[in-house]
Amino acid sequence: MNLAKNNAVQPSIALVDEIIQGSGGKVGEWIKRPMVLRLKREIYAYKEMQEKLALELERAREENQKLRNLSYTDELTKIPNRRAFKEFAAREWRLALREKKPLSLIMVDIDFFKKFNDSLGHQQGDSCLIKVAQTMSGLIHRPEDIVARIGGEEFAVVLGNTGQEKAPMLAEKLRAMVEKMRCQHIFSEVSDVVTISVGVSSIFPSRLNSLEQLIENADKALYLAKDNGRNRVESLSVD
Ligand code: GH3
Ligand code: MG
Ligand code: MG
Repeated sequence: MNLAKNNAVQPSIALVDEIIQGSGGKVGEWIKRPMVLRLKREIYAYKEMQEKLALELERAREENQKLRNLSYTDELTKIPNRRAFKEFAAREWRLALREKKPLSLIMVDIDFFKKFNDSLGHQQGDSCLIKVAQTMSGLIHRPEDIVARIGGEEFAVVLGNTGQEKAPMLAEKLRAMVEKMRCQHIFSEVSDVVTISVGVSSIFPSRLNSLEQLIENADKALYLAKDNGRNRVESLSVD
């Protein structure tokens, strides 16, 4: 008997065929009755429908996954977006709390980016955002880290299991790499190329502090970096 795998209908058809051949004509007569022939056709039609439905289900699953990926990806730079950042940070927070590990957050803002757009146009501005996103993403590889575009010319980096000894060093690497891109910016007041200001904050999650506190401190550190001259890293850790 030629039975196909994972097919509930095939055995019944094969069984019918076997009975016809083995019955010496009696079953053959019976099997030619219109009702039985109709039943056989219905079994085949049912089998076909089952296969089509399985295909459609698979396609719908793929489509759903694509939409899900799109809703977590920044359209311009193709890196994770604000929503992805928020969910990732919340997950890393819970993990760090449970495992008593540190967590760090880096906030990044491109310096004088309005002037860049005003002088070179929005399209050049878009290309610059893509380059900055790619450059920073190239430095972050671990599964417990993420680089996301969280606003116009603003990015955030979550570093799981990373404390205040390591995070500022990584932030400085990000700053240096962006400067090294040597993307010309003649209207910047701090350099002749595109630069970023960076704020870093680290924390040991506990019941007494919160993710919001970590974000607030990284933001404060970023504004400190802006105030202190831009194209620099400032750190502010939570006790
Ligand atoms: P600062 O050094 O203080 O950060 O100054 P800034 O000019 O970078 O900051 P500001 O907030 O004044 O301007 C941000 C600019 O970012 C404004 C807008 O033209 C630009 N921008 C935001 N989103 C996009 C985008 O998707 N594409 C492009 N090309 N530009 C964008
Ligand atoms: Mg900004
Ligand atoms: Mg800016």
